[in-house]
Amino acid sequence: MDSFRSKENLNRFESIFGKTKQLPRLFQAPARINIIGEHVDYLGGTVLPAAINFAVQVYLRPKDTASYKLHSVTYNETVEIKKPLTPNPQAPWSDYIAGVIVEIEKKGHVVPGFDLLVDGNIPQGSGLSSSAALEVVTGFAIGETFGLDISKEEVALIGQRAENHFVGTKCGIMDQFVIAVGKENDCISLNTDTLKYSYHHFDLGDYEFYLINSNVKHSLKDSAYNQRRAECESALVKIQTNYPNFTHLYDVNLTESELDACRLTNQEWKRTKHVTSERDRTKIVIEGLESGNFKEVGSALFQTHWSLSKEFEVSCPETDFIVASLQNLGVTGARMIGGGFGGCVLVLDLKDHFSKIEEDLKKSYQQKFDLAIDFYKFQISDGVKEILI
Ligand code: ADP
Ligand code: MG
Repeated sequence: MDSFRSKENLNRFESIFGKTKQLPRLFQAPARINIIGEHVDYLGGTVLPAAINFAVQVYLRPKDTASYKLHSVTYNETVEIKKPLTPNPQAPWSDYIAGVIVEIEKKGHVVPGFDLLVDGNIPQGSGLSSSAALEVVTGFAIGETFGLDISKEEVALIGQRAENHFVGTKCGIMDQFVIAVGKENDCISLNTDTLKYSYHHFDLGDYEFYLINSNVKHSLKDSAYNQRRAECESALVKIQTNYPNFTHLYDVNLTESELDACRLTNQEWKRTKHVTSERDRTKIVIEGLESGNFKEVGSALFQTHWSLSKEFEVSCPETDFIVASLQNLGVTGARMIGGGFGGCVLVLDLKDHFSKIEEDLKKSYQQKFDLAIDFYKFQISDGVKEILI
């Protein structure tokens, strides 16, 4: 991944923006998986993500004029944006970059003009967080290039604010955070309330994680993601009327009859059930990974999937079908990951088992949905960094 099209992209950069004495610098941010703790990172929950070896890369070079010229290799498109920066529906990909510039400037920095080329191999809209990778690599590249002294944790917060305020997805902090601070071979456990985190290395023994892409793409910006967050927030407000000490939905530990007395709507009740039961599953998964009890981990992952599907209602028939099939085919555990409404399934399985079930799954999925699935092995990788050219 480190040398990912970087030579061709340097040539492309120079043919689009011109060759000068100053070489652009190359930066890269990874995709991420999340083992457990889904849809809790905007509710103060604990999550267990890791950076993986897919990436978004940018070349960035300062220039004298005050505008920003951006080229996307994926969309084969160049746009020039100027302050005051506003969303650009003609090139939505540029909003993730513009949003980061705006949020850096809100902190009191000035971001001078630059040329930027972006390319990436993270499947977009697949739950691996290509959007956060684009935000984090942009924030880091700007900070390093202009010497703004912004920590990686702060880059993560800037990226989240860009997505919340400029793009309009009210995402939590998990994706940007792990993409910023991730480390080769390690997951992080992150408390999304305090932002305290620690690195964990799990020895998976005879097991492995892999990904299956349903190839149903979501656009989180246009999905019910924000609605889910609003439902969780209104559930908490109602619960606080009776129990003012709860500051996060994640911490609510009421009995069913106590919850009933809070007069939640059916939807608010279901969202609360997912969030609070995810807290229990997260403990089981972390303990199971530490002690090598992978069967328990796997069954908690299946439970999380069905909770996301039935209680949180962010799955879709295609990912439900994949998870149900994997369950029938005897894999250890599986669940949809990311915001939902399509995207990837994370699978925990005995090594080499997938080759025995792959054909069955591919065939039945194709027959039912007229769609192919993709299968990705991955390595746990570093967070955002500069690639020396
Ligand atoms: P996810 O983050 O799960 O991949 P999102 O819907 O949140 O899905 O974000 C996907 C959007 O991020 C794309 O539609 C595109 O605008 C932007 N994006 C991601 N990667 C790139 C890239 N390599 N080049 C340009 N835009 C990108
Ligand atoms: Mg995203």
